[in-house]
Amino acid sequence: MNSKKSISRRAALKNLGTAGIAVAAFAPGGDTAAATGSRRPPSVSRSAEVRKTIFDRVHQTPLIDTHEHLIEEKQRLQGPKPSLVPCDDWALLLSHYLDSDLLTAGMPGASLERFLSPNVDPVSKWDLIAPYWAAVKHTGYGQAVRLSIQELYGIEDLSAGGIEKVQTGYERIRRAGFYRHLLNDIAKIESCQVNCLTGEPFKESEMPELLMQDLSIVGMFAGPNFKQLARPTGIQVRTLEDWHRVIRWWFDRYSKYAVAVKSQHAYSRDIDYARVPAEQADPVFKKVLQKDPITAEERKRLEDHLFWQAVGEATSRNLPVKLHTGYYAGQNSMPLSRLQLNAGSAAELCRLSPETKFVFMHICYPFYEELLAVAKQWTNAHVDMCWSWIINPVAAKDYLKKHIVTAPINKLLPFGGDYIPVEPVIGHAALARRGIALALSELVEEGWLNLEDALNLADPILHDNARRLFQLASKTETLKQAQWVR
Ligand SMILES: [Zn+2]
Repeated sequence: MNSKKSISRRAALKNLGTAGIAVAAFAPGGDTAAATGSRRPPSVSRSAEVRKTIFDRVHQTPLIDTHEHLIEEKQRLQGPKPSLVPCDDWALLLSHYLDSDLLTAGMPGASLERFLSPNVDPVSKWDLIAPYWAAVKHTGYGQAVRLSIQELYGIEDLSAGGIEKVQTGYERIRRAGFYRHLLNDIAKIESCQVNCLTGEPFKESEMPELLMQDLSIVGMFAGPNFKQLARPTGIQVRTLEDWHRVIRWWFDRYSKYAVAVKSQHAYSRDIDYARVPAEQADPVFKKVLQKDPITAEERKRLEDHLFWQAVGEATSRNLPVKLHTGYYAGQNSMPLSRLQLNAGSAAELCRLSPETKFVFMHICYPFYEELLAVAKQWTNAHVDMCWSWIINPVAAKDYLKKHIVTAPINKLLPFGGDYIPVEPVIGHAALARRGIALALSELVEEGWLNLEDALNLADPILHDNARRLFQLASKTETLKQAQWVR
């Protein structure tokens, strides 16, 4: 961390504090005391003090980031790579997820393609997004990018005159060692949990303690993915029992290094996995192996069986099971009526396997009240707020406030940047910290918590829950010994 950075960060904190105080002036004062029982909400001047104390505490507390798609720093520094790193200039910060808001704001696909092209002059790229910038700059996706650009390049907002400086800043920051600088020094993120998108179920990271990894299980039951999963094992897959061995091979090899297992299968269907015995899945598996056609009902039967096979392996090795729920990345495709079923299905999974620690991701947005009911009801249900602060920052704050007064707080994971490029994680983490501090402040102002309660919640929310659930201390020790880094 250099001194310039720490000054700009302090300035940013101060601004957040000032904004908080300005809002606090309008917060309800003593006249709501009767409505909230004997505990009197603080007066206006006390309220400003409370906000300052809570914001300071939240901004000083280390954060665990439980969900990212970050590619390895080394790969990133090799320049553009199809789909994950479309270009190597400032436009990359908008490639994931702000590109979706640009398209739904009306930007033509061909213009976005040019914007993210590695062969277009970076400074001239502004003209392509200029007509849509005012429409998207206030969304969570837009705010995360703007906060990152402010923090990293010292530019308040994108505009025609500032792009050269943004591009210079981009090139200055993007160099060997920048992952640690951005994540540890600037965002005060202790460690990340990465779901790698480069194909392999588990990434042998060169920075294993910073970029901890999930073991991806989706290919074990969807498809299944013979090519990617069977070949490295050397197992000839002729029967369902052989496939079970393939699944076990991956767990034998990586479960001690993985922090959790992860599936984003909810992008294809509901998460209503029934317990299907092997005898019922076997005939379908044979058909799939022979590349014979199968019905939708048969596909579900096979996926359901294999899902529980993978979850059984995870559970016996004490690995939490992270499942995507709710909102879809992208645009013009999301089947909202199907997503509505996710929370109900999540409850059923908890009932079917009480010994499995389930982590339901993204607060099942927009059905977060339903998911909160699941977290309250089931001991084995945990909620990860990853991605939610940029989908809808106000809803995320609302969720956190409600979770604190509804479900046990040890079941909450507050943050995952969910990004492929590392730079926007800075803005997303700043939004999350602001949201967490606001949620705690408002609960104090409204009389649901006292200040001491609120301050005591910072550690469990920001890092203790994740450290415990994912056994991060022992994983860190194991990862220090990982064969691939020695
Ligand atoms: Zn994700």
